[in-house]
Amino acid sequence: MKDKQPKHLEIILKVSERCNLNCSYCYVFNMGSDLALNSAPVISRATINSLKNFLERSVREYSIDVIQIDLHGGEPLMLKKERMAVLCALIREGDYNGASVQIGIQTNATLIDEEWIEIFSRYHVSVSISIDGPKHVNDIHRLDHQGRSSYEKTLRGYKLLSTRSTDGKKEINAPVLSVLTPKANGSELFSHLYDVMGCRNFDFLLPDCNYDNPIDTAAIGRSLIEICDKWYAQNDPDCVVRIVNAHMAHLAGNKKNVVLGVTNVNKNALALAFTVTSQGEIYVDDTLRSTHSDIFTSIGNITHTSLEEIFASRQLIALNIIQDTIPRECSECVWRNICAGGRPINRYSSIDGFTGKTIYCDAMKMFLGRCASILNEMGVSIEELVINLGIENDK
Ligand code: SF4
Repeated sequence: MKDKQPKHLEIILKVSERCNLNCSYCYVFNMGSDLALNSAPVISRATINSLKNFLERSVREYSIDVIQIDLHGGEPLMLKKERMAVLCALIREGDYNGASVQIGIQTNATLIDEEWIEIFSRYHVSVSISIDGPKHVNDIHRLDHQGRSSYEKTLRGYKLLSTRSTDGKKEINAPVLSVLTPKANGSELFSHLYDVMGCRNFDFLLPDCNYDNPIDTAAIGRSLIEICDKWYAQNDPDCVVRIVNAHMAHLAGNKKNVVLGVTNVNKNALALAFTVTSQGEIYVDDTLRSTHSDIFTSIGNITHTSLEEIFASRQLIALNIIQDTIPRECSECVWRNICAGGRPINRYSSIDGFTGKTIYCDAMKMFLGRCASILNEMGVSIEELVINLGIENDK
């Protein structure tokens, strides 16, 4: 067995390639890719078996500490409960040479009921809910195929999860994931999640836009600042707003802190993440399907492809080069070691590929500037910030 990286293997597993909602920004269905609709609607038992075999082979190839399986869709709860239970049981039964197995699910929560909660509980599946904010914000993008709001159903699912109790105590406090929209007020988004939903663990994603598919980035930057200010004013150490906490920790000098989606974990090959479709086909970062780039073509199939072959694939090598290369226009930026030019999907243009900086450059400068000024107010000196940013040798 190779005593080398990766230590953390993450698989974004498409258990359902269909969705009961029709969110307008969805990169799976509404940004020009037909991969999902050309794949089997749900994962088969044969593919589930292949996945277990693939994982068992992989831990014999590499000394892996953690296997993380993210159950994704479409909407993953469109898989029948019986098959989901089989999937979780088979994954949990595998012999992974001591590696721990984490199973998570990202769901719109509209289909959650007590039976689903029992399955999550039985197989230790951590659940994360997608909702963009109060009804008038959530309704901007997250409608069903008939154009109807999904807000009430998602909130009902979230409440069912959050109020399930053992001995009067809350058992699950599901984290929430929101996609930012230029029309929303960040302070209102924060208040909705914190006060109305009672959530204490949430995150905000920048929309998967790029130079071919632009967005009002200044408005996104304004929202990020409003979220940052609200987080600071709330002053609740039990509340984690990942995008804020992760960047703050990095700016405060926590070198071990990984800003997911920002820090290049591939650089030292500490972690490897890839997508597996309902038919077992292997692809790189799922969001890149909307680029129609050569990078998002099949690497192989879990039935016969080894982890070493995935590592050596031209698609993964190309992605690593993109992530390892800070765009030239970022070379003198004070934020270059934390922003690093941004996520590949936000750097893409059909003319220049992935060579440019993120379209969210202005938003990141606004956001990181506010994070730094808050830390300075909290007692972190400018000199410390300069060292933590790794720019002390800049002229
Ligand atoms: S803030 Fe802009 S210039 Fe600075 S690293 Fe990020 S994308 Fe590059």
